[in-house]
Amino acid sequence: MSWENNIRRVVPYTPGEQPKQQNIIKLNTNENPYPPAPGVREVLTQFDTDLLRKYPDPNAQVLVDAIAENYGVNPKQVFVGVGSDDVLSMAFMTFFNSDKPVLFPDVTYSFYDVWADVYRITYKQIPLTEDFRIDPDDYRQENGGIIFPNPNAPTGVLESLELIEEILKANPDSIVIVDEAYIDFGGQSALPLLEKYENLLVVQTFSKSRSMAGIRIGFAIGSEKLIGYMNDVKFSVNSYTMNHLTIQCGAQAIRDDAYFREMTGRIIATRENAKKRLTALGFTFPDSMSNFIFASHRSADAGRIFEALKSRGIFVRYWNKPRISNSLRITIGTDAEMEQLYAALTEILAKEGA
Ligand code: PMP
Repeated sequence: MSWENNIRRVVPYTPGEQPKQQNIIKLNTNENPYPPAPGVREVLTQFDTDLLRKYPDPNAQVLVDAIAENYGVNPKQVFVGVGSDDVLSMAFMTFFNSDKPVLFPDVTYSFYDVWADVYRITYKQIPLTEDFRIDPDDYRQENGGIIFPNPNAPTGVLESLELIEEILKANPDSIVIVDEAYIDFGGQSALPLLEKYENLLVVQTFSKSRSMAGIRIGFAIGSEKLIGYMNDVKFSVNSYTMNHLTIQCGAQAIRDDAYFREMTGRIIATRENAKKRLTALGFTFPDSMSNFIFASHRSADAGRIFEALKSRGIFVRYWNKPRISNSLRITIGTDAEMEQLYAALTEILAKEGA
């Protein structure tokens, strides 16, 4: 049909399932099992609806300032968006405009190739090593930019700042984006490297460590120059990405550092215990520094375990894709939820004769 000839056709990203049933245990989209900081509830109860008549601040300055203060950077170094998906999408549009391929790992966040396709960016997926590590030497080749998550998703593997710096050193002519969606669960952020590298962009989110996936806040920190370029693109697409309520809730959340530390500490403790419990059940996994574990069973099939858990109301994530089709990505829930998971796995594995 002729009207269909000039359409931008894409294969969209598939987000994790958001089941409608009540009383399920949801360990499939790396959400935080604990509520957001108490101050967020206060903002919501005291919110003046008259504000909704007016457009929000296109700069989301209150939120930008709170983030800048928290991370000890200049507000001009902070870009905010509707979740880090929005921030990353803007970063792809702004920074990856070369004929040379953008490089990212073969096993990684499955949105990167989707953004590359939608923006007509060429890319090359670089195989991780056998044990899902990045080999920095693989990133010594011509490229139009580099992006990887640290810790990686869905593997949970954390790379060192030394490795990141090696990649930066080898690529002074490219923008290097480190997607730190899961950095707050024990990893070391690349933010200190900003002092030395003007071409580094660090992206983080309120969705995981700050328990606010539902309100949609992500941010990038980089040199003033990089952030300036991103804002130019953002203001060429949509000025009002952040609404009044989101701006206020986000600013309040990031000011409560004590709560943030307590909650991330709890998740880390549950994760460390999960490593022991899953090992005892016969699972192996790369060591995770995120809020999920990417586990394979020594004898039982991941797809079958996934279905059996689902039929018991426990949702984890499974991809039938090369290299990862025998692994389950299990988000760390509360201790009580994890106990139910271990009980269900024990039952399922016994039935499978595993
Ligand atoms: N980066 C990675 C590596 C992720 O796993 C996710 C979560 N799907 C995101 C970015 C986006 O998260 P959000 O848009 O909720 O900030």
